[in-house]
Amino acid sequence: MGEANHREESCQTFKFKMGGPKGAVMFSIFFTVYTFYITAKCQSGKWDVLVFQPPVSDGLTEVAAAVTIWFLAQCILYIMSIGGKQEPGVILSSGERLMYNTNALFVLIVNILSMVAAILLGYDVRLISGSLVCMFEAAVLLCFMSSLYLYIKGSSLSHAEKNPNGCSGRIIYDWFMGLELNPRWRSLDVKYVLFRSAIIGWILLNICNLVEYWMLYKNINTTLVLLNAIQLAYVVDYFWFEGGVIVSRDIVHEGLGYNILVQFIMIPFCFCVQTRYVLTTDTKLPNINLCLIAILYVVGYYIYRASNSEKNSFRKNPNDPKLHYLMTMPTSSGKQLLISSWWGMCRHPNYLGDLMISLSYALCTGFSHLIPYLGTIFLVLLLLDREKQDSEGCKQKYGADWDKYCRIVKYRIIPGIY
Ligand code: NDP
Repeated sequence: MGEANHREESCQTFKFKMGGPKGAVMFSIFFTVYTFYITAKCQSGKWDVLVFQPPVSDGLTEVAAAVTIWFLAQCILYIMSIGGKQEPGVILSSGERLMYNTNALFVLIVNILSMVAAILLGYDVRLISGSLVCMFEAAVLLCFMSSLYLYIKGSSLSHAEKNPNGCSGRIIYDWFMGLELNPRWRSLDVKYVLFRSAIIGWILLNICNLVEYWMLYKNINTTLVLLNAIQLAYVVDYFWFEGGVIVSRDIVHEGLGYNILVQFIMIPFCFCVQTRYVLTTDTKLPNINLCLIAILYVVGYYIYRASNSEKNSFRKNPNDPKLHYLMTMPTSSGKQLLISSWWGMCRHPNYLGDLMISLSYALCTGFSHLIPYLGTIFLVLLLLDREKQDSEGCKQKYGADWDKYCRIVKYRIIPGIY
């Protein structure tokens, strides 16, 4: 009850994020137009930044129906919960603890096997790459309609039940940020399934690009194989540690509005840009370059995985004897902060690893065009902003203890530099 009152108050003393209502309009347009631009580039294979001739898209209704059916299949696979287990998310500010079906790895395998079977049965993957823009338009349309539905549905919630960052009372802003944090239909967590499906969609598009290369050239491009392998490895790892995903910031704290929906759409259409680029330009890097890129990826992955696992294990059980080597700092909230090992070097070693991984993808495309690097540039901006937001959140949670922690762990993302 006290918690509900607190949330009621937080709605009344509302602080806008992302530039408020004007920012909501601008970001909605920017995310949508940017993804349309990248998708059109991927479909046309014309990579000059200023040359833009969006391919003509037709068959929107059929494509929208196919995207919807595919997504429904993902929902059914989630609900069936085969190949995974039920895991608890974090305790929400309402005091509730939601359960999640963590079978994403199984669902990924089902999707890959289904695609392989379809290809073996004669399905032409060029039907997909030739409809990318249309698929994007269908996805945006569906997300736009879903966001309107979610806004109308969320309007009947009490203030205490609403997303604390999406209850300003300004229609555009609340529609953009999402009125509800975790809309559910029975055991189906809509936000989480959308997120998982977007990641699976990225891998499926990558596989299409690999197969299309084979159909075009009848040989194997090692750059494309490496790119597919490292991106698949990243996703397999992500789903293997799915227990960490369900407690991540996006899943816990972001409302399901147009903002997060369009960011989910960006995942398949923007993340497949490097494999699409290598396919359409037939980029083949020398083996030595591929080795150096693989090393960058492995080091980045090691930093990313080791630091995330260290924090997650510590948060799960701070008294775990296996973590006895870690130095910690007590806080008045009762929680402790790590101040040694990975989390003593900088405040977000996991972001550094993620950036190295993202750079390794872009480097696979050589240096002829900027577009395959936009994802990495975007990630830098996103993580810089995320670091700022997380720091503000931690300052609120830990007060003066957070300032003390920042004096002990001086660097934010890159030890010794930033
Ligand atoms: P973090 O995993 O860094 O989590 C931040 C939280 O960890 C803080 O709010 C705090 O929460 C806790 N924490 C911070 N410092 C310490 C410490 N010293 N000791 C113990 N706990 C601490 O951030 P995100 O959730 O933003 O990122 C999760 C992963 O997702 C990262 O690997 C990131 O790189 C990745 N990511 C990837 C993106 C992509 O597009 N590739 C985009 C965004 C993120 P509390 O105290 O409440 O436990």
